[in-house]
Amino acid sequence: MKWQLAETAKDLAAYIRSLDEDLAEPPPAGAVVTAPALSRAGKTAKAAAVTPAPAAEPATSPAPLMPSKKTASMDELAEQVKACRRCGLGSARLNAVFGVGSRKAKVVFVGEGPGFQEDHKGEPFVGRSGQLLDKILETVLGLKRSDVYIANIVKCHPMKNPSDPESHGNDRPPTPDEIAACRPYLDEQLRAIKPDCIVTLGSVPTKVLLNTDKGISLMRGRAYDYPVEIVPGRPVKLIPTYHPAALLRNPNLKRDTWEDMKMLKVFLETGKIS
Ligand code: SF4
Repeated sequence: MKWQLAETAKDLAAYIRSLDEDLAEPPPAGAVVTAPALSRAGKTAKAAAVTPAPAAEPATSPAPLMPSKKTASMDELAEQVKACRRCGLGSARLNAVFGVGSRKAKVVFVGEGPGFQEDHKGEPFVGRSGQLLDKILETVLGLKRSDVYIANIVKCHPMKNPSDPESHGNDRPPTPDEIAACRPYLDEQLRAIKPDCIVTLGSVPTKVLLNTDKGISLMRGRAYDYPVEIVPGRPVKLIPTYHPAALLRNPNLKRDTWEDMKMLKVFLETGKIS
């Protein structure tokens, strides 16, 4: 279903002007991004902070969908992630990056994985991409970061050289094995939050959560039914859009992202996808 622009050219111009303030500077070399979510209680949801990711999109094989098991609490999950060594990323990370935001979020934003800044701070989306995401949420949706939930496909920083976590530009995409090892944590987070909508930021989370090999430019512009049951009888919508780091690299993607976020806004306000 194709989103039709419902807002005025004035709204779009204001959005682009706002983002241009963030796009004025070139993105830092090699960074990795993460995702946010909207709050169920709020009229305002919040964006997640993101660190810019490396330009190359990984050719990630779709990870198998995990069967539903008993739902752990978010605190239990956070403790499990903190101690996790289920894959090799756990031995190189400085901090596990579990996720941030409202645990009653109406929308969960999902990114690829932590980058340098996220690894150092232990929080997703804390770089320029995160600031840009915050601005998009505020400008288009009227939401704040605290209203949404933000998480990643993998919780630990994938590094090209795991022996040098202090090095910038040391990011790489997660491997299919790393994604498969970490996927159950995201599944459990989603079961605990029970969002109405998931927004995937970029190709990797879109491929993983929709079990497809198509990239973000082919998948964005419409909403999908998330193919995993979170709440019996209540489907969860999934809206793919570009990662904010992609907008930092290519400002021409701003309008497509605006359209995707306007589709999300209509869904949050009406429960319908235009
Ligand atoms: S990336 Fe996920 S599975 Fe791998 S060690 Fe970190 S928390 Fe565990």
